[in-house]
Amino acid sequence: MSLRIALIKIGQIEYLADYNKIAKWKSELFIINKIQCVTNAPESDVHDGYLDNKYTRDGLKKIVSCPKDSDIAIAIIPYRFDDNFYLHRLSKNCAALSLHRINDILKYDGISMENFILKQIYEICALNYLVDDFGTNEVYTYVHLDTKGCLFDMNGNREDILRNTEKPIICDTCKSKFGERQIDSKFLATLEKEIKRLKKPLILRIENRIKKYPFLSMLVTALIAIFLNLISNMIYELISKK
Ligand SMILES: [Zn+2]
Repeated sequence: MSLRIALIKIGQIEYLADYNKIAKWKSELFIINKIQCVTNAPESDVHDGYLDNKYTRDGLKKIVSCPKDSDIAIAIIPYRFDDNFYLHRLSKNCAALSLHRINDILKYDGISMENFILKQIYEICALNYLVDDFGTNEVYTYVHLDTKGCLFDMNGNREDILRNTEKPIICDTCKSKFGERQIDSKFLATLEKEIKRLKKPLILRIENRIKKYPFLSMLVTALIAIFLNLISNMIYELISKK
């Protein structure tokens, strides 16, 4: 059931994520078995009068291939696609993920880039089971416009990635699509279990809760202080009586 994934870093993207941390993620559904790089990102193949670097799917197809000992290659690029979407399938076993301006959105909720990339890897793994040919437009029929916090949300409005990067779900509509395919009986349960682990570290979750509910946090802090004071007084009285 485990797919072998090769990450292909295109251009200068080291500063955007910790790729070794991603490779250490424990999953029963995939393993990162290779990290390769194309150090010099090719020049833009889109000439629209603007000076920023951007790519088309066809342009990337020429420079991304899947290594023989991997099942799927995922190219990670720092620049945008010409249509401004962030994930595209390039061929039967290759996909490309654009990280362009993703960090600007994730930072609003303290979500890590590593979790965003892992979420996309889960989506690609799941689509690989759902479609006959990963390289065709059939994959685009499995994502939905409605934003539900589901792994298959299209996120046409990029800010919506905040809704499905933290503990994404598989919505009932998408579950029914899995039911129409011949897949490993454990796949869906394992997928749901593992994507729940995509969440912030505890300390950041507490920090976010405090920012969201400052008055409640002050109240809880005051109650804890009173409670600790009462306990210390009781201990003092017990010791004094002896
Ligand atoms: Zn869904």
